[in-house]
Amino acid sequence: MPQGGSVVNTDPNCIFCKIVAGQIPAMKVYEDEAILAFLDIGPLAEGHLLIIPKEHAERLEEVNPDVLAQLARQLPRLARAVLSVTQAAGYNLLQNNGRVSGQEVPHVHFHIIPRAAGDGLGYRWLASKYPPGRGEELQKKLLEALG
Ligand code: AMP
Ligand code: ZN
Repeated sequence: MPQGGSVVNTDPNCIFCKIVAGQIPAMKVYEDEAILAFLDIGPLAEGHLLIIPKEHAERLEEVNPDVLAQLARQLPRLARAVLSVTQAAGYNLLQNNGRVSGQEVPHVHFHIIPRAAGDGLGYRWLASKYPPGRGEELQKKLLEALG
């Protein structure tokens, strides 16, 4: 695996930057010049992977889009490997941004979480409904925000 000796943006206090720099160990499964994938140390299921950009960024919207594209290009391969090794029936791709979302490590990461029927994992998916007009109002604001 190519090593990441030339990463520009790093945070010396960040645990994932330390993994990238080789200062603390990780069970790495894939590495290139821009991204790293390794086993989560506290797996929700066997084979639970984390995929990170090597450069430090706390949240998705702060990541260089080219780096993100490079990460996304590897997701299908990584997911296929997890599925074939674990024989999982499916998986969740999870990506938390901000403490309120459940993000504990402030270095962008994607989880691949293998799933099996009856595994007890899941989300409280508390779906609501827009009152009349509210969806359209939000759509208008978002269209404006996106220019
Ligand atoms: P999140 O809640 O989305 O920020 O997830 C952080 C994840 O990082 C958790 O699932 C942790 O188990 C995992 N984690 C924390 N430290 C390490 C580490 N040193 N090596 C591998 N995974 C880690
Ligand atoms: Zn970092």
